[in-house]
Amino acid sequence: MLLTPEHEEFRRSIRAWVEAEINPHVDAWEAAGIFPAHQVFASAGRLGFLGATKPEAYGGLGLDESFGAVLAEELGAIRSGGVAMAIGVQTDMCTPALAAEGGPALCEEWLRPAIEGRLVGCIGVSEAGGGSDVAALRTSAVRDGADYVIDGSKMWITNGTQADFCCLLANTSDGPVHRNKSLIIVPMKTKGVQITRKIDKMGMCASDTAEIFFDAVRVPQANRIGEEGMGFIYQMRQFQIERIWGAMNAVGIMRRAIACTIAYTSERRTFGRPLIANQVVQFRLAELETEVESVSALAMRAVEEVVAGRDATRLATMAKLRAGRTIRRVADECLQFWGGLGFASESEINRIYRDARLVSIGGGADEVMLQILAKMMGLLGR
Ligand SMILES: Cc1cc2nc3c(=O)[nH]c(=O)nc-3n(C[C@H](O)[C@H](O)[C@H](O)COP(=O)(O)OP(=O)(O)OC[C@H]3O[C@@H](n4cnc5c(N)ncnc54)[C@H](O)[C@@H]3O)c2cc1C
Repeated sequence: MLLTPEHEEFRRSIRAWVEAEINPHVDAWEAAGIFPAHQVFASAGRLGFLGATKPEAYGGLGLDESFGAVLAEELGAIRSGGVAMAIGVQTDMCTPALAAEGGPALCEEWLRPAIEGRLVGCIGVSEAGGGSDVAALRTSAVRDGADYVIDGSKMWITNGTQADFCCLLANTSDGPVHRNKSLIIVPMKTKGVQITRKIDKMGMCASDTAEIFFDAVRVPQANRIGEEGMGFIYQMRQFQIERIWGAMNAVGIMRRAIACTIAYTSERRTFGRPLIANQVVQFRLAELETEVESVSALAMRAVEEVVAGRDATRLATMAKLRAGRTIRRVADECLQFWGGLGFASESEINRIYRDARLVSIGGGADEVMLQILAKMMGLLGR
């Protein structure tokens, strides 16, 4: 996919915002274990970043997915994977189905303020009983008059303690597991929504991750996205956008890992010369750079499919898998060249190493990606 001067201009505007508005604060936010989502999203919303790929009718920029990929990559320049991920949840995880399938009233009420950064969203799919097997989730939404009454719980919810709304996947009937679910917008201030804890994590520390209980939570049926029973299918489509975001964000983070390692090894001297003067260091970094380009190329092939209106499942799945595997290697091998400083929490590469581990788990673990691909190859059940 060829990027145009417009893409590069967009990239520069994101980079300038990250450097001026975000990076000066990330160390404090990492230490606090949370970042001010409303403040950051309002700032991103004013610049149009939160609605880059969303319809102009609701305040978006109406750009295609290639601009979303540039945004995801440039958010990798944020020196906190958790802050980037929180923005990614807003742009590419909890709003794509709403934009694609939500009617005008629902989009006006929830999508427009999400694009403007006035409301913070979260996506509620995973549960304590399991995240990989989405079809087996237990949370239910039962019709009662004009409402749904929601009971159950969600686990690992990014932005969960600060969110104004949740794009929730729940069972709305007892039918077959792929046809009994719906996506419902749940206002988080509704009676019965309880944020029971904020989870302590090894990485993504500035991102708040919550466990949330829903106890007889009453929500109008008008808050359902699209058709009842289509939630699983909508979520699988939404996952393709999430996985491309994850892959391209990983590309941005890997570029930063290599750049900061080049800077560090250029200054650090051992045996009378800069570390980077050793050919083994140069070759290793050149090899990692090549691997990053291969992930980027694969993810951009997936983007091409989305832009062309074709099913991107196969390539998006491969890109997510490759990104998860590659970022772990890049982070680990770069960290090695930082010596003891790489082991210290204070160094940039250490935070990258801790944050990077999530890519192979969140949004579907590597094994789930392999399961999807094996199924598409007709290998399951052989
Ligand atoms: C920091 C963080 C943020 C998150 N944010 C969100 C969010 O905002 N919203 C949301 O809904 N979820 C979120 N998640 C949840 C995430 O998507 C799940 O953790 C992930 O899908 C895995 O689910 P699980 O943790 O329940 O693992 P399980 O489903 O219990 O699986 C455990 C492991 O088993 C392996 N495995 C699973 N299935 C198979 C198989 N068929 N064959 C072989 N091995 C297999 C995988 O290695 C997997 O990691 C987040 C998670 C984290 C850690």
